[in-house]
Amino acid sequence: MSDFDLIIDETAVTGESYIVACWKCAEKFNAATSSWCGCDAKLRTLECPHCASCFCLAPFVYKRRFWNDAPKTLREHASRFRIPGRDVVGGEQSRAPEASALRRPHVLIVDDEEPIRSLAACYVEQLGYKVTTVSSAEEALLMSDTVSFNVVLTDALMPKMDGRELCRRLKEAHGDQIKVILMTSLYTANHYRTEARHVFKVDEYLAKPLRYDELRAALQRAAPLHLALAS
Ligand SMILES: [Zn+2]
Ligand SMILES: [Zn+2]
Repeated sequence: MSDFDLIIDETAVTGESYIVACWKCAEKFNAATSSWCGCDAKLRTLECPHCASCFCLAPFVYKRRFWNDAPKTLREHASRFRIPGRDVVGGEQSRAPEASALRRPHVLIVDDEEPIRSLAACYVEQLGYKVTTVSSAEEALLMSDTVSFNVVLTDALMPKMDGRELCRRLKEAHGDQIKVILMTSLYTANHYRTEARHVFKVDEYLAKPLRYDELRAALQRAAPLHLALAS
């Protein structure tokens, strides 16, 4: 099998069906209904029903292709992410459906790295917010012209326009109507935070790797769920 023959039927990519070829035995299977593996990895994968191998050890190209084309239900599935300390996402599962009937604050997640984008989307949705994801600051700016977001949760470091500049432009266009939460693993120094707040008008600052409780607290300050539910 060639590395890029992964997706057998592109038209079958929906919530219920995602037909792929196993990287090990090359048999086809429906990843959407397969079991998640139990590997002690930050990001888990799915098991082939024919040979019972997951693809945690598959080549990078296989994984990239798999996740790029995977339906949202798989990409953002709580079982994909191992959360250190507590199995948060599973336990909070009941919240989202309750809130879904009511008006939920809309969060736009901006990150060029797919696993982080999906993890953040998974967390934020579990908390009861409405979620949209994009992979660049440019897309985020375009979308914010037509869709009204309450919060933009953005990566700080992205290839073209970075998260701070995105924040500055969002604030220029929408003022304080949009709250911006900046996620970064790099610039943890105090002067960076101060500059992000004062020069670029960043509202909140989150360290990566993301922590569920910190994210919840930051979102709660930026767009309290109870207010939205009452209005
Ligand atoms: Zn297999
Ligand atoms: Zn695995």
